[in-house]
Amino acid sequence: MPIHQISVVAKAEKENDIVTTLTFDTPLSQAQPGQFVMLWLPGEDEKPYGVAGISPLRISVGARGNFSKKLCSMKKGGKVWLRGPYGKGFDLKGKRALLIGGGYGFGPLRFLAEVAKKKKISATAICGARSKGLLMAPAVCKTIFTTDDGSAGTKGNVLVAMKELLAKEKFDTVYTCGPERMMSAVAYEAKAAGADCQLLLERYMKCGIGICGHCCMGEKLVCIDGPMFGLEILENPEFCKVWRTKTGKREPI
Ligand SMILES: Cc1cc2nc3c(=O)[nH]c(=O)nc-3n(C[C@H](O)[C@H](O)[C@H](O)COP(=O)(O)OP(=O)(O)OC[C@H]3O[C@@H](n4cnc5c(N)ncnc54)[C@H](O)[C@@H]3O)c2cc1C
Repeated sequence: MPIHQISVVAKAEKENDIVTTLTFDTPLSQAQPGQFVMLWLPGEDEKPYGVAGISPLRISVGARGNFSKKLCSMKKGGKVWLRGPYGKGFDLKGKRALLIGGGYGFGPLRFLAEVAKKKKISATAICGARSKGLLMAPAVCKTIFTTDDGSAGTKGNVLVAMKELLAKEKFDTVYTCGPERMMSAVAYEAKAAGADCQLLLERYMKCGIGICGHCCMGEKLVCIDGPMFGLEILENPEFCKVWRTKTGKREPI
């Protein structure tokens, strides 16, 4: 049975023009990088968010619609009702890891970088955004920044930096989180370079525990079969093509 625990915001830090990182007053020690929690604001909604750190619990939220804007405007002492962690997280393996993220998707990758450091796995990260004002803070490993408009870091998208890096270095596994089209391009590039790839997917979710079926992608449920998927997701008929709105209507991505 899912049980909500009340978590109190200890710190709310604006990371960039749209992302706020909430640090809570309690740890979530059992969570693995890539897993998510369901955050409930009674009377508003309940939605999934990727774990961006566990001791204490951290969540990076991008202000998008009403619910995420409410989370982003929370101050120290604000309460959320939380259940989880849920889902299948990253399977950290190999000796050399490449982490590639865009927007708030870089939050879970920063958590992965912390775990990689503890396990003495060498990691390099690429963090991309449209412009300087949308970049996230660096990970605890070498972090390469890219912006589409060249206002900070390498000019171009994460693929430009990824190709440059892969021309010089070999990586066992690429871990990616961000817009689906970006992850798709990253996965094909990793595959071509002979590296494995793990992608963190997002679909509209309601229960988060495999009951409602709202987050289905073909035959897969993102909440329990994912949100981490391997290269096999490239063959899923709905990957990069279809998602379901709040009411379940199928819409092209
Ligand atoms: C496993 C998982 C982990 C997530 N982790 C994070 C996280 O770490 N940080 C974060 O900010 N958000 C995360 N999300 C997204 C989050 O759950 C909300 O969907 C998001 O905050 C928008 O909610 P909202 O109610 O503010 O916006 P809404 O009012 O629901 O939507 C605002 C706009 O975004 C679009 N939209 C909403 N949800 C999706 C979706 N899933 N896919 C495509 N378009 C969508 C809507 O069509 C609308 O145009 C995650 C989602 C999943 C499934």
